[in-house]
Amino acid sequence: MHEASIVGSLLDIAVKECRERGFNKIASISVRVGKASGVMPEALLFAFDAMKAETIAAGASLAIEEVPVSGYCDACRADFTVEEEFILSCPYCGGSSFRAQSGRELDIIELEVD
Ligand SMILES: [Zn+2]
Repeated sequence: MHEASIVGSLLDIAVKECRERGFNKIASISVRVGKASGVMPEALLFAFDAMKAETIAAGASLAIEEVPVSGYCDACRADFTVEEEFILSCPYCGGSSFRAQSGRELDIIELEVD
């Protein structure tokens, strides 16, 4: 299961960070997940709840911020975001010469410790 390995590494990072700050309990973890990362937020939450039990994050909540897919068009120089998981063409000029700007990230943006 894809999400389980992601949650495993998120927990590793969070636990390490928490201990480095001198704390022993994680209150909450906020992550930013790009819509094009292939990660389902529901599956991530499910895996997190299942895997946190044996860790210092047992009482922690997971907040997920979804990042839309965005791109920059080389033809008309527009910055744009799309609702879909993939950019097929520039929504302004229909061109196919674009660069993806965001949507693939998967980062911890905030960690609250007790
Ligand atoms: Zn364009």
